[in-house]
Amino acid sequence: MNSDFSDILADVKEQILYLQELGVENLAVDLPEIMFADVPVQPQKQTIPQEKLERFVPVDLPLPGAVKPPQRSNANEAKPSRSSLLESTKLSRLPSLPKRDSIYTNYQEPKKPIIQPTEKEMPTKKTVETPTETLFGDISQTLPESKETVEEIRADIGNCTRCPLHEGRTKIVHSTGNLQADLMFIGEAPGADEDQKGEPFVGRAGQLLNKIIEAIGMKREDVFIGNINRCRPPGNRAPTLPEAETCKPFLLREISVVRPKVIVVLGNTACQNLLNTKVGITKLRGNFQDYYGVKVMPTFHPAYLLRDPSKKRETWEDMKIVRDYLNGLK
Ligand code: SF4
Repeated sequence: MNSDFSDILADVKEQILYLQELGVENLAVDLPEIMFADVPVQPQKQTIPQEKLERFVPVDLPLPGAVKPPQRSNANEAKPSRSSLLESTKLSRLPSLPKRDSIYTNYQEPKKPIIQPTEKEMPTKKTVETPTETLFGDISQTLPESKETVEEIRADIGNCTRCPLHEGRTKIVHSTGNLQADLMFIGEAPGADEDQKGEPFVGRAGQLLNKIIEAIGMKREDVFIGNINRCRPPGNRAPTLPEAETCKPFLLREISVVRPKVIVVLGNTACQNLLNTKVGITKLRGNFQDYYGVKVMPTFHPAYLLRDPSKKRETWEDMKIVRDYLNGLK
């Protein structure tokens, strides 16, 4: 009997120790004090057998000395791979990037309708408008106004020695004719007869020119006649370019004074010097050219027609164009 009680008491003490280890400080147990009054408590500390502790300790609760430490995994045991860990998660059920890519492999962006720009929306190549068309209207060069007179120009020429041709001249051959003429003739340079008389187109070539003028219904007194150079070149050669460039400004000043409606340039030298071109007269003749807004008709020189009368027909054709133009202005 005493041994049974001792066993019970020992069990209670073991449970108290267990509860103390669990952190329980007060145990609400209503036990009659008398129940323990007569019970001698053995002061010696008793060791609790392992098999008895295990009766009160949950199998999954580790106790010092009561439960074996968890077994470390064997070093040779292969660690679970990341893929195997992911396999157990929901993430593994999501498509991987490649798999997700495969989802969109056959996906195609809905094609947007191609809208062709209308003709109005098409960019157009901008055309650069020249100032002549916009700001200033038609500013094709016009003959400059002149306030000087022919007499003043001649006074300016004076006893001219501006070019080498002055050395062989007899007289300076100035322009002559009607200062209000609608038609002006311009030749190359004076010949022997002109050099002697000091007047343009007075030789045989001049007589042919008079016939040309009359052929279009005009008289010599109606027109104005001049030359690029006013001094006779030696041997009736053509004036050089520097010679022509030196003397030409006097003629241009006279053109600005007279302001003719049409200028007939006679021969290659006169044509190229007035129009500042190297194109031959055979290509330019028959069509009006332009000099500061003045119609210019290139045709053969009368001296050339004397040498080649077959060219008279073409000259006649050119003069008919001049005649019709002048008649159209009336
Ligand atoms: S051709 Fe003319 S520039 Fe030359 S000397 Fe005679 S007037 Fe002067």
